[in-house]
Amino acid sequence: MSTQHVQRMSRLMAKTLREDPADAETLSHRLLVRAGYVRRSSAGVWTWLPLGKRVLDNVSRVVREEMDAIGAQEVLLPALLPKEPYEVSGRWSEYGDLLFRLKDRKGADYLLGPTHEEIFTLVVKDQCTSYKDLPVMLYQIQTKYRDEARPRSGVLRGREFQMKDSYSFDVSDEGLEESYRLHREAYVRIFERLGLDHRIVSAVSGAMGGSASEEFLAPAAAGEDTFVDCPSCDYAANTEAVTFALAPVAAEHPALEEVDTPDTPTIETLAAHLGVPASATLKNLLVKVDGRITAVGVPGDREVDLGKLGEHLAPAVVELVTAEDFEGRPDLVRGYVGPQGLEKVPYLADPRIAPGTSWVTGANRADTHARNVVCGRDFEVDRYLDVVVVEPGDPCPSCGAGLHLDRAIEIGHIFQLGRKYADAFGLDVLGREGKPVRVTMGSYGIGVSRAVAALAEQTADERGLCWPAAVAPADVHVVAAGKAVPLALAEEAAAALAGSGLRVLLDDRAGLSPGVKLTDAELIGVPWILVAGRRSADGVVELQHRASGTREELPMAEALARLT
Ligand code: ATP
Ligand code: MG
Ligand code: MG
Ligand code: MG
Repeated sequence: MSTQHVQRMSRLMAKTLREDPADAETLSHRLLVRAGYVRRSSAGVWTWLPLGKRVLDNVSRVVREEMDAIGAQEVLLPALLPKEPYEVSGRWSEYGDLLFRLKDRKGADYLLGPTHEEIFTLVVKDQCTSYKDLPVMLYQIQTKYRDEARPRSGVLRGREFQMKDSYSFDVSDEGLEESYRLHREAYVRIFERLGLDHRIVSAVSGAMGGSASEEFLAPAAAGEDTFVDCPSCDYAANTEAVTFALAPVAAEHPALEEVDTPDTPTIETLAAHLGVPASATLKNLLVKVDGRITAVGVPGDREVDLGKLGEHLAPAVVELVTAEDFEGRPDLVRGYVGPQGLEKVPYLADPRIAPGTSWVTGANRADTHARNVVCGRDFEVDRYLDVVVVEPGDPCPSCGAGLHLDRAIEIGHIFQLGRKYADAFGLDVLGREGKPVRVTMGSYGIGVSRAVAALAEQTADERGLCWPAAVAPADVHVVAAGKAVPLALAEEAAAALAGSGLRVLLDDRAGLSPGVKLTDAELIGVPWILVAGRRSADGVVELQHRASGTREELPMAEALARLT
């Protein structure tokens, strides 16, 4: 191993804070700021300080190695993109307020890329002409931009963030399945190497189009996603997918019911009237948020749950949708159980939507709301706007046992896109028989910066961050707990450790008590802490294991041997 550089705390740009930042909601947000890893620049936009940058780079390195190992090729596409390809795919309008849009000096429209299916499709269209050029897998680790409605929790949900996005291009469905399988396996290896506890859950591909889709979720209380998993078999799904899957066992659900809802429901009153906790996930609820009709829980990027709304929106901005809101929206369709069974009506064609009427959707009458609506029984999946509530104890679609509900952070997402983008851009290659063949695609994302926060959430304790070795900003944190002899011993230890290839952080700061330095070391969360203190004259140091908290006094040579 090559000699490493010793990072001195006296020179390190990382000012630790004793107090939590006022706006911090989650553990990772508080600790990453307090330990000097990141600083907020503007809402959802973050500066990575040296310690944070090291962790981010460590995550990127693992991701890169595993992507290279499955034969994916790294590229770097622009983040500044012209409007036209996103108009071709329809996402220029579909993305709505989520897109950062800008104009150049000539007035041409641009966007900052939120994800790059369109652009990768064009790259392959330019580069690949024959089936012999395929399959191909391309990836990048790049800054992405999404004007999230509620950036929160530090780097967990940024408006500017780092994503690894990759895309596969195949001529056959079997080829796509193989590329998808390769990615799925690479993702498992990546999250295992990072030390991230994760679950793979079935997802609904929604706005991305296409068929198969799975999410990689990191269980954590701070997570914004709810997922179900079965205690008796390996079934796991996000709440959206489980409502689809539960359709066949709909008969076991309680009967559909209508309840009165007040004129202007807040999240709390709405939840109370629906008889669900404010943290429940309601699927496909239509409300007005900040004056715009919002389909809460529509598959895809507009997915929000009631708890999130309750937490992040002032109740006053969530209002009932009125008849006027449906003007010019032929796309809004509702499904409900009427006298003839299931009825599906475009909102505009519903005679009951008269001017002046207020609506909460999912209801069969004005000012009511349906509860116990079951997907597949009471309405069909996909575009119909209605309410489905998944609750703990609902039957597992695969074995019938009572499901558990948990919170998690979405750290990765893999899709079999199929030919949606190839159709939009006319991406064909010359096939074996000399005829053009339409290409089929997959897309695969990992939230690289989000993974840093997810790791912090899962591993931190009351004393601070506590990194798994693979991502830690250093291997050993050497603390000089005293001047003169302890400092000399600490310097010696740091040099020896660095010489044998370990990454070392050396607390050589003058004028700080040993207590302050040790508190900082625990906050920063490097796996091993080596303290040169009272017994330095005898050449004895203390070795602390950050995660378990075990401490041991031992001669320095032994401590070094333990670590190298
Ligand atoms: P979310 O449901 O959390 O909004 P998403 O489903 O919109 O995420 P994808 O389009 O699937 O995200 O993007 C791939 C990955 O990028 C996600 O699995 C997640 O890890 C990461 N990611 C998405 N949005 C953000 C964000 N605002 N900040 C940080 N990471 C993000
Ligand atoms: Mg999103
Ligand atoms: Mg998502
Ligand atoms: Mg996703």
